[in-house]
Amino acid sequence: MKIFLNAGHGGPDPGAVSKSGLKEKDVTKRICEILAEKLRHFGVEVIEFQEQNSYFEISKAENKSGADLFVSVHCNSFSNAAACGVETCYFPTSANGKRLAGCIQKELINYTGLVDRGCKMRRDLHVLKATKAPAVLVETAFISNPEEEKLLKSRPEIFADGIFAGIKDYIS
Ligand SMILES: [Zn+2]
Repeated sequence: MKIFLNAGHGGPDPGAVSKSGLKEKDVTKRICEILAEKLRHFGVEVIEFQEQNSYFEISKAENKSGADLFVSVHCNSFSNAAACGVETCYFPTSANGKRLAGCIQKELINYTGLVDRGCKMRRDLHVLKATKAPAVLVETAFISNPEEEKLLKSRPEIFADGIFAGIKDYIS
């Protein structure tokens, strides 16, 4: 089992930035570092990838990798600071992507206790459309919500734990 793990955003693109200056690309990097270690411990081969210039690099690298699963980790953001919760996105024609999204979403709710926004079908996301392996994009929590920002910053391991448990559920 080989997993292509993409920490969302990177290089000149910070992703969403909270009012206090927390950058999405730093949060996703931290969560993915913890998650990669857990997966490797579990016997899974992990390719960690964070873009340096453009998100086209991600699908290009994934296409060459021969990965069995693709997982992209992000933080959500919205103009209204009250927006909150977890959602996991998958590409409409991928049954395995949908099943993986369901497993990750369920376990992320278990581990974080955050609001369940459900799994979302998204045909517009490049990393879901242009990747070969069953793919999901995880919106871990809202970096624009002060309480969830605190959690993303101080407890990245609970997000890594949730995604890890979801991947394990999918594999077994
Ligand atoms: Zn993002």
